[in-house]
Amino acid sequence: PRPIELLNSAVTDTAAARRTIGVKNAVVHWFKWDLRTSDNRALCLASEKARKAGVPLIALYVLSPQDFDAHLTSPARVDFMLRTLGVLKTDLAKLDIPLWVEPVDKRRDVPGRVMELMAKWGASHLFANVEYEVDELRREAKLVRECAEKGIAVEPVHDTCIVPPGQLTTNAGKQYAVYSPWFRSWIRHIHENLELLELSDPPGPNPTSTRALFATLFDCDIPQAPESKSLSVEEAKRFRALWPAGEHEAMKRLGKFCEEDVGNYGNNRNLPSVPGTSNLSVHFASGTLSTRTAVRTARDRNKTKRLDGGNEGIQKWISEIAWRDFYKHVLVHWPYICMNKPFKPEYSNIEWSYNKEHFDAWARGRTGFPIVDAAMRQLTNMGWMHNRCRMVVASFLSKDLLLDWRMGERFFMEHLIDGDFASNNCGWGFAASVGVDPQPYFRIFNPLLQSEKFDPDGEYIRKWVPELKGIEGKAIHDPYGRGAGDRARKAGYPKPIVDHKGARARALAAYKKGIDSG
Ligand code: FAD
Repeated sequence: PRPIELLNSAVTDTAAARRTIGVKNAVVHWFKWDLRTSDNRALCLASEKARKAGVPLIALYVLSPQDFDAHLTSPARVDFMLRTLGVLKTDLAKLDIPLWVEPVDKRRDVPGRVMELMAKWGASHLFANVEYEVDELRREAKLVRECAEKGIAVEPVHDTCIVPPGQLTTNAGKQYAVYSPWFRSWIRHIHENLELLELSDPPGPNPTSTRALFATLFDCDIPQAPESKSLSVEEAKRFRALWPAGEHEAMKRLGKFCEEDVGNYGNNRNLPSVPGTSNLSVHFASGTLSTRTAVRTARDRNKTKRLDGGNEGIQKWISEIAWRDFYKHVLVHWPYICMNKPFKPEYSNIEWSYNKEHFDAWARGRTGFPIVDAAMRQLTNMGWMHNRCRMVVASFLSKDLLLDWRMGERFFMEHLIDGDFASNNCGWGFAASVGVDPQPYFRIFNPLLQSEKFDPDGEYIRKWVPELKGIEGKAIHDPYGRGAGDRARKAGYPKPIVDHKGARARALAAYKKGIDSG
C-alpha cells in the first residue's frame, strides 16, 4: 500500500477507539512545516478541542537533526525555521500557550519521544498537519495506531494543499499525471467546494492557570542549529537580511505583492532581473503562510471573485501556486519518486555522466554560460533562484552536461531556503524530461536563446557575474562567441565547458539509447 493508504487505514481502524478517549490535562499541537498561528487547520482544531474541554493547549516542535540530514535541509532553511520558532514562541506566549522544542537525536525515536511527552503532560489529544513525504506518512500511521493503544488520540489533518491529495481523479477514476487537465479539475473542485478556501481561526488564549501548571514549558529556549547545519556569521547576516522570518513578514510580503505586483505577474514572471514574482516560496515551504490565505487574498482582489477569469496576473499567479499542490498530489500517488526513481520508469536506463569537473563548474557558476553561472551564483548567495533560471540550470545540467539530474536535485535542496521535496524533485524531473511532463525528451533548452529572451539587456548576468560587468550589448550572453573573449578572459571568466550543439546531440543519443534499452 501507498504510505497515504497506511495513514488512512490507521485513522479508520482507530476511529472508534479514538472517539472514546476523553480529554485529560492538555491538548497538544505538533508543529512541523506549518509554522504559523493563522489559518492553520490542525492548530485551530486543537485549540477548539482544548477550549471546549477547558484545558490548556501546548505547542510542540520536535527538532530532529537526522530529519534535516535525511531531507538535505539547507542550513539557510534550518536558520529560517529556528528564527520562525522564536516568532511563534513570542506570539503563542501572549496567549499563554507554551511552545516546547524537543531535540531528538535519532529520527526513529521521534514517535516514542512524542508519546513520552504526551504521557508526561497528561495530554490525551495530539493534532498535527499531515506531511506527504514517504517516511513522514509511515511515521504518522504508526503513531496513530500506537497512541490509540495507549489511550492517546492522534488527529492528522490535511492542511498544506488547498485540495487534499487523492480528491481529484480523471473520468476514468485515475490520478492525473498531467498538469493542465488536473488544474482545470482543481479550479472546478474549489469552486464547487468553497469551504476549501475558508480560513481557520487562530488559537484562542489558554486559561491563565496554564502559566502555573506548565511553568517549565514556558522556559524552553529555542536551540541553536545543529553543528552540521550552522551558518557562518556572514551567511547568517546575509540570509537574515534577505529573508525576515515568521508569519507577520509573510503577510506583509503577500500584501505588498498583491497590492503592487500581482497585476503584472504575467508579463514579469519570466524576467529574472525584474522583481516580478512574490518571493513567497520560503513562506509556503516553511508554512509561515498557507497557500489558502494567498489564493484567497489574490482571488478577493480579482473583480470576478473567482480563481479564473478577470485579472490575468492574478489568474496566472494562482495557477503557479497550484503547481505546488499538483506536485504534492503526484508525490502522494507515485511515492516511489521519494526513492530516487524517475517518475517515468522507462527513463531509468539512461547512462548519466558523473564528470566531477563539470559538476563543480556548474555548482560554482563557472560553466562559461553566463545565464547559467549568474543563476547558480544567485542560488548560493540568496538561497533562492528565479523560476526561469531553475529551469535553465536544471536543463543545462541534465541535458548539456548529461549529469545525473539527482546530483542537481540534491545540490538545490542543500542550498535552497525554500527547498521542498515535491516541488524540487518534480521540477528537476520536468527539466530532465524524466518527470510529469508530457513533452518529449528532445525539448532541450538552448541557454543562449533563453538568456537573450529572458535577460535581453544582460542586467541579471551583470548583477551576478561581476567579471562580465564591462561587457556591453549582446556579447554579454556569449562573450567568447561574440568578440568579447579577451575581456572575459582577462576578467577571469571561463570559456564554455561544452559546445551546446554537440552536447545536445550527445543528450539526444543518450536518452534514445536509454529508452530503447528499457
Ligand atoms: P511565484 O512566481 O511568486 O509563485 C508563487 C508560488 O507558487 C511559489 O512561491 C511556489 O510555492 C509556487 N510555485 C510557482 N512555480 C512553481 C513550480 N514550478 N512548481 C511548484 N510550485 C511553484 N519551489 C519551491 O517552493 N521549492 C523548491 O524546492 C523548488 N525547486 C524547484 C526546482 C526546479 C528545478 C524548478 C524548475 C522549480 C522549483 N521550484 C521550487 C518552483 C519555483 O521555481 C519556485 O517555487 C519559485 O521560483 C519561487 O519563487 P516565488 O515565490 O517568487 O514564486
